[in-house]
Formats: sequence, structure tokens, C-alpha cells
Amino acid sequence: MTENEPHSIYGIDRWGMDLVSVLPNGELGLKNPLQPDAPIASLPKIIRGLNERGVHVPMLLRVSSFLDHGIRTLNESFAQAIERVQYKGVYRGVFPIKVNQQAQVIDRIVEFGRPFSYGLEAGSKPELVIALAHSLAKDALVVCNGVKDAEFIRLAILSRKLGFNTVIVLESAKELDTVLEVMEELDEEPLLGVRVKLTHRIGGNWAESSGDRSTFGMHTDQLVEVVDRLKEAGYLHCLKLQHSHLGSQIPDVHDVRRAVDEACRYFVELSAEGVPLTHLDLGGGLGIDYTGEKSATENSINYSVSEYCDNVVETVAYAMDEAGLKHPTLVTESGRAVVATSSMLIFDVLEATLYDASSAPSPEPDDHHLVRDLASISGYLGVKRLQECLNDALYYRNELRALFRRGYIDLRQMARAERIYLHLMSKIKTLAPMVENAPELDAHLEQVADIYHCNFSLFQSLPDVWAIDQLHPVVPLQMLDKEPDRRAILSDITCDSDGKVDRFILADGVSPSLPVHELPEDSSYYMGVFFVGAYQETLGDLHNLFGDTNVATIDLRNDGGFDLLHEQEGDTIAEVLSYVEYDPRDCVDAFRKMVDRAISSGDLKSKDRKLMMAAYRDSINGYTYYE
Ligand SMILES: *Cc1c(COP(=O)(O)O)cnc(C)c1O
Repeated sequence: MTENEPHSIYGIDRWGMDLVSVLPNGELGLKNPLQPDAPIASLPKIIRGLNERGVHVPMLLRVSSFLDHGIRTLNESFAQAIERVQYKGVYRGVFPIKVNQQAQVIDRIVEFGRPFSYGLEAGSKPELVIALAHSLAKDALVVCNGVKDAEFIRLAILSRKLGFNTVIVLESAKELDTVLEVMEELDEEPLLGVRVKLTHRIGGNWAESSGDRSTFGMHTDQLVEVVDRLKEAGYLHCLKLQHSHLGSQIPDVHDVRRAVDEACRYFVELSAEGVPLTHLDLGGGLGIDYTGEKSATENSINYSVSEYCDNVVETVAYAMDEAGLKHPTLVTESGRAVVATSSMLIFDVLEATLYDASSAPSPEPDDHHLVRDLASISGYLGVKRLQECLNDALYYRNELRALFRRGYIDLRQMARAERIYLHLMSKIKTLAPMVENAPELDAHLEQVADIYHCNFSLFQSLPDVWAIDQLHPVVPLQMLDKEPDRRAILSDITCDSDGKVDRFILADGVSPSLPVHELPEDSSYYMGVFFVGAYQETLGDLHNLFGDTNVATIDLRNDGGFDLLHEQEGDTIAEVLSYVEYDPRDCVDAFRKMVDRAISSGDLKSKDRKLMMAAYRDSINGYTYYE
């Protein structure tokens, strides 16, 4: 691809991770990572195909081949690192259910993961219930983290009778009391782990989950207490696993090395205390390079999966060799890195609010003199005086607005002024790229970017974009062979001014607006938000009562086509109403009563009853999004 192709501005080569690329016809394509030689599948074509099958946007598209790829990459990278370093233990990863609990996703993870003896991590009772509904490989682990009550612990211990390798990770010394009680009650022994609190603090968004003040795990004195009490009770032999977790999306590979090093120190010390540890669990944190910058910044990482694995394996091997200990089984709980790339949110643009105009009325003799002044700016508009023109346009426009508010000019006069102003803006926007180093001009022009109104809810589908300024790559899915000659921010269909995306990943960094095309008149203009497979689905909420979107799971075929594996219809309005404790039948009844009353009083003709009821029913049974 050459630098000056119209789509190079989006930096797809940089962030696309070899999963997405642009087809010669300007459509965005999905590459099958498992079949590099297969033709690239056009995403708009997939959307049209799904449309024909009755699956409509907005939708979450899960690409099963991408998920498979995520699982393979992690497990094979560890296997390769183990081989390279001649590590004498094995890798037994577990997928943290928290990161994506959807049945379709967990089912596939279990299926694709079986050859790798891939297990599951449960951070709560419901997640353990999910884990135990799956048949895992014989030597796969089920790791239980989080706060545990007797019920949780009982289920975890009993599950071993079914062949599950369920490990109860003690989060605190107090949890040990409950474990000992349940052990006594059942007369069964558990597999135990301890969560140590590392003091090393990482950078990035999740710095709070690391270091001294992290709310999870045990300090040295609590560890000693647990060891002593297990020894005393005669159950020290149950303690097999040491766990630590630094938080998600670790930006800097040096932090990985330092944290693993510290974890190894604990492992060596606990072993010296006589704890027969066999498993070292290093938690999650393996990041995703959302921006493609390859740097230790918030939405990027400065390492690859294989580099992460090399660092982990090498550090552990070195520490264990030095202490003369056997190489433990390595466990990680990487969630984000495994699932993030496997889904994308797809929606269409409903309409555009443009902040410029292609033509303007010429001033008339009885226009207010400020309107004529505004119009006269086009007489001296040029690259050299662009900032001055902008300043003048803003000044006259603001003065005119003040006059309008006080009743000195009328609606039509104001409308003419606004249109002249918008026309000036479009000329200024065209000339601006020729002015070098004009931060003020650029900042202002960002404020007059178009607003593209899109059919999705940020709060439901991209909660981290709203809550923690998470960046995901966003690109139009078509017309990428044409110059995107407009700039826009994307607003969603909630009535919330926060419901917008106004930070975008581009080839040269993060931008407050997205290059877009003028909306085509006779076809849909689709947008895709990429790498949303981790954390977004269940964190989303029902703001304005927009519910779950449709979900389609597809597999990419070898011939460039796709198979629809599963469709999950999005919430209907009736479903969403029941979440907020309405009974949809009561709503229909109440509406019907009003219709009948209106007929009785003569306000409505009786033949309109059917129409009224159908309109209400169609809505309540339909999709919450724009149809
Ligand atoms: C959230 C969490 C994970 C997953 O972290 P990722 O950064 O998504 O890999 C793993 N382990 C524990 C204990 C967690 O809380």
C-alpha cells in the first residue's frame, strides 16, 4: 500500500493487526488469520449477506476465526517460549470469564482451547457456575478468584469429584476460616492457591489494581499467617498455586518482567517455608495495541504476545534455577488479549449535521450591515489571512446572534447570516490544510466538524469509551478508495450529550474528529468499531432504554465467504421494559383502555382501533434501535 492512498489517513496498517485491510473496491476486508492465503472477505458484503438473512444493524459481529486465532496465539507463543528457553514446566492458561461471559463466546473458547488444555477463571459464584457447565480437557484448570462464601467454596471443592482441577485462591487470611470449615463439613480436600499482593506498580489505566494499596491479595504478614495455620491444621500440602494479578492492559513490558520477578521471589520464599507449590499464576494484563503505536501509552503496548511470553518464561526459569527449584506450571489469566479482537460493533449513519454550506445567499441592500460585513469576508479570504477571516466571521456571527436574541433582526435574516457563515467555514476548511503550524485555527475547525448521527448507544455498546476514555479503532467500512473530504464526530441515539465518540485513532495519532465521506444518497454508510470483544458486552447499560444489539457470530470461509454460526436477536422494547419492572402486557392493556375510552367519547373512530393497537404492538415487539 502506498502512502497516498485515500484510506492511508486511517492507519489501518498500523492498528489492523493483520486482521483487517482495505480491498481494491474501497471496502473494508476481514482477513482470515488461520488461512492467510484465503481471499479477504468484504465486511460490507458480509453485512449485506446478514441483512438478507434478516440480521440488521446495529449489530455486534463476532468473528469466530479471530477468537480461535487469539487462543492459538497465546498458547502457541507460550509453547514456543518454553521451547526456546528450554523451560521444564508447561503452560496451562485459563480464560477469565469476567472479560466476556456470553455463552457463545465461552462455548467457543472451551472448544478451541481444548487441544491446549485451556481452562477457565471464575471471579464470582455465577462465573464458577458457568465454568462447571463446560467439559474441559482433563488437565485444564478452573481457578477461583474473588470473594468467596461457604457456598462458593463447597461447590469448588465438590467439583473435583467430577474431574475438575478447581483451585480455590485464598484472597485473605479470613477466607481460610471458611475453607477449613467447609473442608471439615465435606471431609474433602481442596486444591488451594494464595493471592499475593505485589508492591510493584504498573502504569496505565489500571495502575490502581497494582501495588501496596491494591484491594486484592495478601501482604507478607498475612501470607505467613496462612502458611502457619495450614501447617497447624495439617493441610499445607493442599497449597499448590501462587497467584498475582497486576491489572489490565499493562502498557510496558518492563513492568511485566519486574512483576514476574517479584512474584518469583514470593514463590521461592513460600517454597522455602515448605509450601509444595507447583503452579505459578501470573494473572492477566497482557494488553492490546488498540492504536497501533507500539508504545507504552494508555491504549497501546510496547510489546508483542510472543515477547510477553518470552519475558515471563525467561524470568521464571532464571529465578527458579537460581533458587534450585523445579520449574512450576505457568498459568496466566489473559482475557483482553484473547477476545478483544474477535468482535466489532457495526452501525449505520442515520444523518449528518453539517457545519458548513456549499453555497450562500448574496447580501441584499436591506440586510443588516453586519450581514453585509460577514459576506464581505469572502473578498479577502486567502491562505495568508485565514486566521483573521475566521476571527472576523466569528465576531460578526456572534454579534448577529446577540441582535437576534434582542429582537433586532428576524428569523429569515438570521438564517441568511448563518448560511453565509457556514459557507465561509467550508472555504476556510478547504484552505486550512495549506496553513502550516496553526494550532488555533486547527482547534477551531475541529469544533466545526460535522456531527454524524449514528444508530447505536455508547452506553450500551461501548461503555469503556464513555467511562475510561478507552480508544477503539473506528473506520467507515466503504468508499475507502475515495478521499474522505469531511471531518465528523459520531453521536449516538441516546439523548445524552455524553453519547458521542470524539477521539479517533488515525495514522498520525489521536484526532478529535474522524475523516469521513459525504453520506451517499442511495445506500447505507456503515461504520465499524473494532476490537470490542473484551469487557464491553456486560458492562453496558440501558441508558434511554436502548437494549442489547443483535449479535451475529460468523466464521470466515476459505473462499472469502462466511458462514453464519449463530444469531442472537437484540432486545425488544418489551424485554427492555421488563428489565425496569414493567409488564409489557399491562402496558398494552393500559393503552387499549385509553383507545376504547377515546372511542366511547367520540374522539376516535372505532375503525381506527386496529391501527392504533397495531402501532403500539409493533413498537413494543420491535428492536429498541432505529429500524
Ligand atoms: C480481570 C482479571 C483478569 C483479566 O485481565 P486481562 O487484562 O483482561 O487479561 C485476570 N485475572 C484477574 C484476577 C482479573 O481480575
